[in-house]
Amino acid sequence: LLEIDTASEGLNMELKQKQEKMRETDNVKAMLEFREKLPAFKLKSEFLKAVAANQVLVVSGETGCGKTTQLPQFILENEISSLRGASCSIICTQPRRISAISVAARISSERGEKLGETVGYQIRLESKRSAQTRLLFCTTGVLLRQLVQDPDLTGITHLLVDEIHERGMNEDFLLIILHDLLPRRPDLRLILMSATINADLFSKYFGNAPTIHIPGFTFPVKEFYLENVLEKTRYNIQSEFENFRGNSRRGRRQQESRKDPLTELFEDADIDALFKGYSTSTRRSLEAWSGSQLDLGLVESTVEYICRHEGSGAILVFLTGWDDISKLHDKLKVNNFLGDTNKFLVLPLHGSMPTINQREIFDRPPPNVRKIVLATNIAESSITIDDVVYVVDCGKAKETSYDALNKLACLLPSWISKASAHQRRGRAGRVQPGVCYRLYPKMIHDAMPQYQLPEMLRTPLQELCLHIKSLQLGAISMFLAKALQPPDPLSVENAIELLKTIGALDDREELTPLGRHLCTLPLDPNIGKMLLMGSIFQCLNPALTIAAALAHRDPFVLPLNRKEEADAAKRSFAGDSCSDHIALLKAFEGWKDAKRNRKDRTFCWENFLSPVTMQMMEDMRNQFLDLLSGIGFVDKSQGPKAYNQYSDDLEMVCAILCAGLYPNVVQCKRRGKRTAFYTKEVGKVDIHPASVNAGVHLFPLPYMVYSEKVKTSSIYIRDSTNISDYALLMFGGNLIPSKSGDGIEMLGGYLHFSASKTVLDLIRKLRGELDKLLSR
Ligand code: ADP
Ligand code: MG
Repeated sequence: LLEIDTASEGLNMELKQKQEKMRETDNVKAMLEFREKLPAFKLKSEFLKAVAANQVLVVSGETGCGKTTQLPQFILENEISSLRGASCSIICTQPRRISAISVAARISSERGEKLGETVGYQIRLESKRSAQTRLLFCTTGVLLRQLVQDPDLTGITHLLVDEIHERGMNEDFLLIILHDLLPRRPDLRLILMSATINADLFSKYFGNAPTIHIPGFTFPVKEFYLENVLEKTRYNIQSEFENFRGNSRRGRRQQESRKDPLTELFEDADIDALFKGYSTSTRRSLEAWSGSQLDLGLVESTVEYICRHEGSGAILVFLTGWDDISKLHDKLKVNNFLGDTNKFLVLPLHGSMPTINQREIFDRPPPNVRKIVLATNIAESSITIDDVVYVVDCGKAKETSYDALNKLACLLPSWISKASAHQRRGRAGRVQPGVCYRLYPKMIHDAMPQYQLPEMLRTPLQELCLHIKSLQLGAISMFLAKALQPPDPLSVENAIELLKTIGALDDREELTPLGRHLCTLPLDPNIGKMLLMGSIFQCLNPALTIAAALAHRDPFVLPLNRKEEADAAKRSFAGDSCSDHIALLKAFEGWKDAKRNRKDRTFCWENFLSPVTMQMMEDMRNQFLDLLSGIGFVDKSQGPKAYNQYSDDLEMVCAILCAGLYPNVVQCKRRGKRTAFYTKEVGKVDIHPASVNAGVHLFPLPYMVYSEKVKTSSIYIRDSTNISDYALLMFGGNLIPSKSGDGIEMLGGYLHFSASKTVLDLIRKLRGELDKLLSR
């Protein structure tokens, strides 16, 4: 990752002199004063000794004690001062892009340098670094990709893996690799950094590696629960909830596919007995409270209450995602409840924001201005805002979950763990005693799990399995069995089977040419395949749009009281295509046109589309385009025309959809005047009522591909597209001659095609050509 000049005495000296010179400057001196007050500073020499003496070291410490900004810096300063600066190469991984950038920027300014000199960062598609860079912050994903070219991490002297307590998939994966790598690289130093959660677990995994704990200091934080908040704010929960629920299809999807046990527990509880002593309106409000959706009106009232009745100090609001953040941001801007918007600084903080407005987030606002930060769980442990005095915690975070038996996966807001709730609360006590407002009842808190399940145990594993193959780490299941907490073998099996089915792995579990390309795309393999096929077949724009919606979320909103109008709007986009995906595509194209004429807001309003999601989709399309150009599938200099010759050809679009969504395929079987639908895994399924295909009796083509299945009263397929057998023959899975010799089979014999030998020969030839294109 770092280009190391062959260590020269001269350069070592030069680096040392520069470092010493910078220490004399006022700015660096002032920052040093701040740094010396951080708890990490007191353990500097102990830490450096431990790094020198041990191959692996685990460091834990309260968030904000200086782990991320100080520990890598201590190593860097020490290497430079000891005249080893030229040959040292320190990498520090971060789970999120935004923290990689913000920390690198912070350390550069603490050293009085420009970002990209001695300290730099590298994230997907973006970097700031140079030949002088000795300390590089990168996302864990970037380091994992680097391992493909350099499995031994040659030249890297120190590796710091940050935020391991979060138990992210990438971090857990990296730890298995490092576990195997350390014996081969005895000179490599590994430092694992964690919040004060479960540090022993990591130490044990690395043969009882020594641990250093940085004791922190926080002021006491008072906590209030929903029942207290309702008494204070006199907010009435009832009405908001319905509106909000209507606006979130994903939310509905969650309610359909999974009952939330915590909320259910609350629903069954005896509210009267639990909340004796509270006012009737509070009790009624608690009854109406449903934990399954966040009531933004409640959040707003709480913020308002703090502003009106509490002393000065920044407010940090924890929300679940970009949607809530932008909605609340708009609400707060519009309802300037204290009369003067200049008195407030409302700042969104979200991991996918392209660049954070550094200064404003961390700096103290001018006197008499209150800073209100609206954040996701990124502010829980990766980014510390010192002047926070009030925390408002909605109690949820977006979390992926995977049901291996039904092969169902979703990304939804779920209750956080007690450990997370504690972290969030702690954010309020950094500079003075603080207050934490929890927008959930105390009994929900008491029922929260101690820790969150590691990501590896609750997500589909196909992307991870591809990665294991591309790093040549041996048999997938054997490798994963070595994890800190190994995933369910059934999940592993499902992932391998899926990769074989889409043609990314061959029968021997080795990567195919398609698989190799998919490895280079940091995306779900199905979505990656759709993008590759879209560019090969010059149908790129539709592939980008649909892939963006699949990777992010459906832009159509379903207001409860105007459902019919919303359905009609969606149907008119679909025309007679029998496809939700084409409806989506047309809606996006319409939005682009409207945006050119600055009518995009009206367009969204009239067509029941979420403006936030549309914008996010546009951003993601650009990211995908960059990725495709990065791996040479798109040459941007040729202009968009070169890749869009067939973009208006809806049959081609459906074929590309088939390539991306396979093996999510159902057979349409005619039953009298109606059609019935069958899948391989679960047999008969229904079209979801929100689909443009719901209520259609007969379909022109014999198959349907779909984005996902959900299970409620019956099993529904969502977002479906009617496709022809030729699309399947060309883009579906492997073709196997049927046993009876009269045609071709797919999906382990589930799909059977009796096409003539001539047609099949032709398809084989075409597929052969496609394989050649992919092996280029
Ligand atoms: P930890 O990793 O232990 O949670 P950090 O090293 O991230 O702690 O932060 C240490 C201190 O530096 C905190 O008080 C934090 O507020 C401050 N800090 C970190 N990044 C910045 C920044 N970009 N601007 C201003 N202060 C920062
Ligand atoms: Mg940190």
